[in-house]
Amino acid sequence: MSLKTPICAFDAKTGILCPKCEAKLKGGHLTRADVDLSVKLSKAAEKIPELNKTTLIRAVELDEHTVLMLGHGDLAILGRDSSLVRKIEESINKRLSLVEAQFSDRRLIEYLFRPINIVTVNVVWLPDGSKMTKVIIPGRKNEQFPVNVELVQKLVKAIRGIDLMVEFEN
Ligand SMILES: [Zn+2]
Repeated sequence: MSLKTPICAFDAKTGILCPKCEAKLKGGHLTRADVDLSVKLSKAAEKIPELNKTTLIRAVELDEHTVLMLGHGDLAILGRDSSLVRKIEESINKRLSLVEAQFSDRRLIEYLFRPINIVTVNVVWLPDGSKMTKVIIPGRKNEQFPVNVELVQKLVKAIRGIDLMVEFEN
């Protein structure tokens, strides 16, 4: 069993794309981040065997932060040992956010706001016909607030193209 990635296992091991994967990259079906992270994670899996039970579906890079969109059930595998994600981050030298690719928009937003339980998620239509997703979170904003709201907004935009409006209840 080895890590599944959007490129062939052989390409992920060697870092060299076969003509088929090269064509997918050129055609926009794969991104440079998908390829880079496939290669980096395959390397990391040699030392972190839990990665071999998971599937990388897509990767999205934002400044210093990388989102790994994984297969169904993979978060449970990597979440079993709390030091695992840190080990992966060290091994590939990137800050990571892990999500499952099949999450609904709502589930994704709820997941990224952990440990905060959001109050509501609503889609708001603006007068110009565009839409935003509005989230209401409990409490008020202060220094102790455990979630980086700006980062969540960037992640949701990068992963799903959703413009997220965040309001505090108080
Ligand atoms: Zn290939």
